[in-house]
Amino acid sequence: MKVIVVGAGVVGTMHAWHAVERGHEVVHIEREAEARGASLRNFGQIWVSGRAGGEELDTALRARELWEGIGARVPGLGFRAIGSLTPVRNAHELAVAEAAVARPDAAARGYKLLTADEARAVNPALRGAFEAALWCERDAAVEPRLAQLALREALLATGRYTFLPNREVRDVVGESAVRDDLGEVHAGDAVVLCTGAWLSGLVREVAGEIPVRRVRLQMMQTDPLGEPLTTSVADADSFRYYPAYASEALDALQAARPQDPTAAAHKMQLLMVQRLDGGLTIGDTHEYEHPFAFDTLEDPYEHLTRVVESFLGRPLPKIRRRWAGVYAQCVDTSRVVHRQRVRDGVWLVTGPGGRGMTCSPAIAETTANELGW
Ligand SMILES: Cc1cc2nc3c(=O)[nH]c(=O)nc-3n(C[C@H](O)[C@H](O)[C@H](O)COP(=O)(O)OP(=O)(O)OC[C@H]3O[C@@H](n4cnc5c(N)ncnc54)[C@H](O)[C@@H]3O)c2cc1C
Repeated sequence: MKVIVVGAGVVGTMHAWHAVERGHEVVHIEREAEARGASLRNFGQIWVSGRAGGEELDTALRARELWEGIGARVPGLGFRAIGSLTPVRNAHELAVAEAAVARPDAAARGYKLLTADEARAVNPALRGAFEAALWCERDAAVEPRLAQLALREALLATGRYTFLPNREVRDVVGESAVRDDLGEVHAGDAVVLCTGAWLSGLVREVAGEIPVRRVRLQMMQTDPLGEPLTTSVADADSFRYYPAYASEALDALQAARPQDPTAAAHKMQLLMVQRLDGGLTIGDTHEYEHPFAFDTLEDPYEHLTRVVESFLGRPLPKIRRRWAGVYAQCVDTSRVVHRQRVRDGVWLVTGPGGRGMTCSPAIAETTANELGW
């Protein structure tokens, strides 16, 4: 079988991976010289902890397993089973963490409530003040700026994979074939469009308006910390954002302790992970209204800096990079992904939202199974 994959972000790359794994030939088309979208701009968090119970958690857990296996074969993507800590600072936040640990699926996530001293034994860089911390053993990380490149090298080594950069796919032509902007037609037995948050142009033409929206986030990265941050770290604002924490305890937290005004205005939470060079990737904000800002705002960065410094108990290293990224998310956020047959032999797979880096290996596996690859 020959599979044409359009879009070289993580969703497209994982579709190429599963097709090649099953013995097929893949032609992978990307309109940039290298992918430059959400898959490079993200934290690289393989994030199990806040997922909604059911299909979303099952997908994340399966993907976590697949990432670990792929990471062992492709060390360049930087898979680390580091887990995460969410420090809590008052009785209301503690109650939400306790409710999480009492979930029937807590063991599958590797949730455990740690005292502050136990948390510092796991992550000694957390010298700031907090009462306890929610540990999630299943959380992991990869290097987003390196992962697609490392995966591509491994795919090229199979001899069954061709990468065609600098070509924008313009049309679907006939069954299982696309035409690029050089006029070349690429025909196969199946086409998978993994075009991320580019919902106009080709996608609108072949699929019309789909129930997927775009979300913009602000991020930053520091100079090396000078010491290991042995786990990912989230703040208790993440309780307000991720579905796994919905509980009466969360309602009580929201009522008793409104979010900091800057965090509320920009729909923020703190997520932080250390890069292999020692720098910290820190975010994020969420912008839903169009048109999106074209610049980055300082207030959210100042808020994040304050929160991180309060956890680390020390000043943040110099901020070296600031950027924004856009992902595509199903409007019904309980849906893991939008997978649609748009023409004979042509499928569109987009909209995994803020969990696309985590879930893409399992999303692509499901496509491969459903299409009988
Ligand atoms: C700031 C930020 C932080 C995030 N953090 C995390 C995280 O820590 N963990 C997590 O699980 N998820 C995270 N996400 C979400 C995750 O990054 C995305 O869900 C995922 O990367 C989407 O991958 P994709 O391949 O669909 O899209 P993209 O990475 O955007 O790739 C789509 C590709 O398709 C190409 N393309 C589009 N149209 C065409 C065309 N017509 N012809 C040829 N090529 C085309 C584009 O050039 C692009 O390279 C984050 C997202 C952002 C923005």
